[in-house]
Amino acid sequence: MASYLVTIGVGDFEFEELPPVGGVAIRNVYGPNTIRTAQPLLAIQGEMIEVLSELFGPYPFEAYGAFVVQDNFGGALENQTLSVFSGSIFSNPILAEQIVVHELAHQWFGNALTLATWDDIWLNEGFATYSEWLWREATDPGFDIDRFAVDHANRGRPVWSAPGDPGPTQLFAPTVYQRGGLTLHAIRRTIGDDAFFAGLSAYVENNLHSNVSTDDFRQTMEDASGQSLDELFEGWLYADVTPAMPD
Ligand SMILES: [Zn+2]
Repeated sequence: MASYLVTIGVGDFEFEELPPVGGVAIRNVYGPNTIRTAQPLLAIQGEMIEVLSELFGPYPFEAYGAFVVQDNFGGALENQTLSVFSGSIFSNPILAEQIVVHELAHQWFGNALTLATWDDIWLNEGFATYSEWLWREATDPGFDIDRFAVDHANRGRPVWSAPGDPGPTQLFAPTVYQRGGLTLHAIRRTIGDDAFFAGLSAYVENNLHSNVSTDDFRQTMEDASGQSLDELFEGWLYADVTPAMPD
Protein backbone atom coordinates (compact mmCIF):
# COMPACT_ATOMS: atom_id res chain seq x y z
CA MET A 1 0.00 0.00 0.00
CA ALA A 2 1.24 3.49 -0.81
CA SER A 3 2.06 5.26 2.47
CA TYR A 4 -0.24 8.27 1.81
CA LEU A 5 -3.21 5.85 1.86
CA VAL A 6 -2.88 5.11 5.58
CA THR A 7 -4.89 7.02 8.20
CA ILE A 8 -5.37 6.09 11.84
CA GLY A 9 -8.60 7.14 13.58
CA VAL A 10 -9.00 7.03 17.34
CA GLY A 11 -12.39 7.40 19.05
CA ASP A 12 -15.79 5.84 19.75
CA PHE A 13 -17.19 4.45 16.52
CA GLU A 14 -20.26 2.58 15.35
CA PHE A 15 -19.62 -0.31 12.96
CA GLU A 16 -21.98 -1.44 10.24
CA GLU A 17 -21.60 -4.48 8.01
CA LEU A 18 -23.57 -4.62 4.75
CA PRO A 19 -24.20 -7.62 2.47
CA PRO A 20 -21.09 -8.34 0.35
CA VAL A 21 -21.12 -7.38 -3.33
CA GLY A 22 -19.48 -9.87 -5.70
CA GLY A 23 -17.40 -11.28 -2.84
CA VAL A 24 -16.33 -7.82 -1.62
CA ALA A 25 -17.07 -7.24 2.09
CA ILE A 26 -18.68 -3.85 2.78
CA ARG A 27 -18.35 -2.25 6.19
CA ASN A 28 -18.76 1.34 7.33
CA VAL A 29 -17.48 3.06 10.44
CA TYR A 30 -19.22 6.10 11.91
CA GLY A 31 -17.95 8.73 14.31
CA PRO A 32 -20.33 10.45 16.75
CA ASN A 33 -23.33 12.23 15.20
CA THR A 34 -22.57 11.15 11.63
CA ILE A 35 -24.65 8.02 11.04
CA ARG A 36 -28.05 9.67 10.48
CA THR A 37 -27.01 11.80 7.50
CA ALA A 38 -24.26 9.56 6.08
CA GLN A 39 -25.89 6.12 6.22
CA PRO A 40 -28.52 6.55 3.44
CA LEU A 41 -25.91 7.63 0.88
CA LEU A 42 -23.33 5.06 1.90
CA ALA A 43 -25.96 2.35 1.35
CA ILE A 44 -25.43 2.76 -2.43
CA GLN A 45 -21.69 2.01 -2.35
CA GLY A 46 -22.48 -1.61 -3.31
CA GLU A 47 -24.29 -0.46 -6.46
CA MET A 48 -21.37 1.87 -7.21
CA ILE A 49 -18.93 -1.05 -6.93
CA GLU A 50 -21.06 -3.02 -9.40
CA VAL A 51 -21.19 -0.16 -11.92
CA LEU A 52 -17.47 0.68 -11.73
CA SER A 53 -16.48 -3.02 -11.86
CA GLU A 54 -18.38 -3.31 -15.14
CA LEU A 55 -16.36 -0.42 -16.55
CA PHE A 56 -12.86 -0.99 -15.11
CA GLY A 57 -12.71 -4.70 -14.22
CA PRO A 58 -13.18 -6.36 -10.82
CA TYR A 59 -12.86 -4.29 -7.64
CA PRO A 60 -9.18 -4.76 -6.74
CA PHE A 61 -9.33 -5.47 -2.97
CA GLU A 62 -11.16 -7.82 -0.60
CA ALA A 63 -13.19 -5.17 1.22
CA TYR A 64 -14.49 -1.62 0.95
CA GLY A 65 -16.32 0.91 3.07
CA ALA A 66 -16.44 4.41 4.49
CA PHE A 67 -15.06 5.87 7.69
CA VAL A 68 -17.06 9.00 8.56
CA VAL A 69 -15.53 11.36 11.09
CA GLN A 70 -17.23 14.15 12.95
CA ASP A 71 -14.35 16.59 12.35
CA ASN A 72 -14.52 18.63 9.19
CA PHE A 73 -11.15 18.20 7.53
CA GLY A 74 -12.41 19.58 4.23
CA GLY A 75 -13.61 16.60 2.23
CA ALA A 76 -12.48 13.01 1.90
CA LEU A 77 -9.46 10.79 1.31
CA GLU A 78 -9.32 7.49 -0.56
CA ASN A 79 -7.64 5.38 2.14
CA GLN A 80 -7.08 1.85 0.92
CA THR A 81 -10.31 -0.17 1.37
CA LEU A 82 -11.77 2.35 3.87
CA SER A 83 -12.12 5.90 2.53
CA VAL A 84 -12.34 8.66 5.14
CA PHE A 85 -15.07 11.31 4.87
CA SER A 86 -15.85 14.50 6.78
CA GLY A 87 -19.32 14.05 8.25
CA SER A 88 -20.30 17.55 7.06
CA ILE A 89 -20.27 16.61 3.35
CA PHE A 90 -23.37 14.46 3.81
CA SER A 91 -25.56 17.49 4.48
CA ASN A 92 -25.38 18.07 0.69
CA PRO A 93 -26.53 14.72 -0.78
CA ILE A 94 -25.81 15.58 -4.44
CA LEU A 95 -22.23 16.63 -3.70
CA ALA A 96 -21.78 13.72 -1.27
CA GLU A 97 -22.82 11.19 -3.94
CA GLN A 98 -20.10 12.57 -6.25
CA ILE A 99 -17.49 12.41 -3.51
CA VAL A 100 -18.47 8.87 -2.47
CA VAL A 101 -18.11 7.52 -6.02
CA HIS A 102 -14.90 9.58 -6.51
CA GLU A 103 -13.18 7.97 -3.52
CA LEU A 104 -14.36 4.51 -4.56
CA ALA A 105 -12.89 5.02 -8.06
CA HIS A 106 -9.52 5.78 -6.45
CA GLN A 107 -9.41 2.18 -5.22
CA TRP A 108 -8.64 1.34 -8.87
CA PHE A 109 -6.94 4.60 -9.92
CA GLY A 110 -4.49 5.62 -7.24
CA ASN A 111 -4.56 2.64 -4.90
CA ALA A 112 -4.36 -0.55 -6.98
CA LEU A 113 -2.48 1.43 -9.66
CA THR A 114 -0.29 3.98 -7.90
CA LEU A 115 1.41 6.77 -9.77
CA ALA A 116 5.19 6.41 -10.08
CA THR A 117 5.72 10.17 -9.90
CA TRP A 118 3.52 13.00 -8.58
CA ASP A 119 3.79 14.81 -11.95
CA ASP A 120 1.24 12.24 -13.15
CA ILE A 121 -1.32 13.03 -10.42
CA TRP A 122 -3.98 13.39 -13.16
CA LEU A 123 -3.83 9.55 -13.36
CA ASN A 124 -5.46 9.64 -9.91
CA GLU A 125 -7.62 12.74 -9.88
CA GLY A 126 -8.62 12.98 -13.54
CA PHE A 127 -9.72 9.34 -13.48
CA ALA A 128 -11.67 9.67 -10.20
CA THR A 129 -13.38 12.82 -11.51
CA TYR A 130 -14.25 11.10 -14.80
CA SER A 131 -15.70 8.25 -12.73
CA GLU A 132 -18.15 10.73 -11.15
CA TRP A 133 -19.44 11.50 -14.66
CA LEU A 134 -19.48 7.81 -15.65
CA TRP A 135 -21.61 7.07 -12.58
CA ARG A 136 -24.04 9.83 -13.60
CA GLU A 137 -24.09 8.50 -17.16
CA ALA A 138 -24.95 5.01 -15.83
CA THR A 139 -27.64 6.10 -13.38
CA ASP A 140 -29.19 9.38 -14.60
CA PRO A 141 -31.04 9.02 -17.93
CA GLY A 142 -31.19 12.83 -18.26
CA PHE A 143 -27.39 13.22 -18.18
CA ASP A 144 -25.80 13.61 -21.63
CA ILE A 145 -22.07 13.15 -21.01
CA ASP A 146 -21.07 14.46 -24.47
CA ARG A 147 -22.98 17.69 -24.07
CA PHE A 148 -21.73 18.03 -20.50
CA ALA A 149 -18.10 17.58 -21.61
CA VAL A 150 -18.32 20.23 -24.35
CA ASP A 151 -19.94 22.75 -21.99
CA HIS A 152 -17.55 21.94 -19.15
CA ALA A 153 -14.47 22.39 -21.40
CA ASN A 154 -15.83 25.73 -22.65
CA ARG A 155 -16.50 26.97 -19.12
CA GLY A 156 -13.09 25.92 -17.83
CA ARG A 157 -10.94 26.97 -20.80
CA PRO A 158 -10.27 30.56 -19.64
CA VAL A 159 -8.86 29.50 -16.27
CA TRP A 160 -7.38 26.01 -16.60
CA SER A 161 -3.64 25.46 -16.98
CA ALA A 162 -2.03 22.27 -18.31
CA PRO A 163 -2.87 19.39 -15.93
CA GLY A 164 -0.12 16.97 -17.02
CA ASP A 165 2.78 18.38 -15.01
CA PRO A 166 1.31 20.70 -12.37
CA GLY A 167 4.38 21.12 -10.16
CA PRO A 168 4.42 20.84 -6.37
CA THR A 169 2.25 23.89 -5.62
CA GLN A 170 -0.57 22.98 -8.05
CA LEU A 171 -0.75 19.21 -7.49
CA PHE A 172 -4.41 19.35 -6.45
CA ALA A 173 -5.48 22.33 -8.58
CA PRO A 174 -8.97 22.11 -10.14
CA THR A 175 -7.50 21.66 -13.64
CA VAL A 176 -5.87 18.35 -12.59
CA TYR A 177 -9.33 17.05 -11.73
CA GLN A 178 -11.49 18.71 -14.37
CA ARG A 179 -9.27 19.02 -17.46
CA GLY A 180 -7.74 15.67 -16.39
CA GLY A 181 -11.21 14.10 -16.46
CA LEU A 182 -12.01 15.73 -19.80
CA THR A 183 -8.78 14.30 -21.23
CA LEU A 184 -10.33 10.86 -20.76
CA HIS A 185 -13.51 11.92 -22.51
CA ALA A 186 -11.46 13.39 -25.40
CA ILE A 187 -9.73 9.99 -25.77
CA ARG A 188 -13.11 8.24 -25.67
CA ARG A 189 -14.54 10.57 -28.35
CA THR A 190 -11.46 9.97 -30.52
CA ILE A 191 -11.18 6.17 -30.36
CA GLY A 192 -14.82 5.18 -29.62
CA ASP A 193 -16.46 3.51 -26.64
CA ASP A 194 -15.36 -0.07 -27.43
CA ALA A 195 -11.64 0.69 -27.72
CA PHE A 196 -11.80 3.18 -24.84
CA PHE A 197 -13.31 0.81 -22.28
CA ALA A 198 -11.27 -2.16 -23.50
CA GLY A 199 -8.14 -0.02 -23.11
CA LEU A 200 -9.17 1.18 -19.67
CA SER A 201 -9.70 -2.40 -18.42
CA ALA A 202 -6.39 -3.50 -19.98
CA TYR A 203 -4.60 -0.60 -18.27
CA VAL A 204 -5.98 -1.78 -14.90
CA GLU A 205 -5.32 -5.47 -15.51
CA ASN A 206 -1.77 -4.97 -16.83
CA ASN A 207 -0.71 -2.68 -13.98
CA LEU A 208 -2.62 -4.07 -11.00
CA HIS A 209 -0.80 -3.52 -7.67
CA SER A 210 2.10 -1.71 -9.27
CA ASN A 211 3.19 1.79 -10.31
CA VAL A 212 2.05 3.62 -13.43
CA SER A 213 2.98 6.59 -15.61
CA THR A 214 1.18 8.63 -18.27
CA ASP A 215 3.30 6.80 -20.86
CA ASP A 216 1.99 3.42 -19.63
CA PHE A 217 -1.56 4.68 -20.05
CA ARG A 218 -0.96 6.24 -23.49
CA GLN A 219 0.71 3.06 -24.72
CA THR A 220 -2.21 0.90 -23.56
CA MET A 221 -4.79 3.17 -25.22
CA GLU A 222 -2.75 3.21 -28.44
CA ASP A 223 -2.61 -0.60 -28.38
CA ALA A 224 -6.37 -0.81 -27.76
CA SER A 225 -7.24 1.61 -30.57
CA GLY A 226 -4.46 1.06 -33.11
CA GLN A 227 -4.04 4.86 -33.25
CA SER A 228 -1.24 7.21 -32.29
CA LEU A 229 -2.50 9.41 -29.45
CA ASP A 230 0.64 11.52 -29.08
CA GLU A 231 -0.92 14.72 -30.31
CA LEU A 232 -4.08 14.28 -28.24
CA PHE A 233 -2.14 13.65 -25.01
CA GLU A 234 0.17 16.57 -25.76
CA GLY A 235 -2.72 19.00 -26.32
CA TRP A 236 -4.92 17.94 -23.44
CA LEU A 237 -2.24 17.39 -20.80
CA TYR A 238 0.59 19.75 -21.64
CA ALA A 239 -0.66 22.65 -23.82
CA ASP A 240 -1.49 25.96 -22.13
CA VAL A 241 -4.94 26.20 -23.72
CA THR A 242 -7.58 23.47 -23.30
CA PRO A 243 -8.28 21.97 -26.76
CA ALA A 244 -11.79 21.68 -28.22
CA MET A 245 -13.60 18.42 -27.40
CA PRO A 246 -13.33 16.11 -30.48
CA ASP A 247 -16.64 15.60 -32.39
ZN1 LIG B 1 -9.46 12.36 -5.60
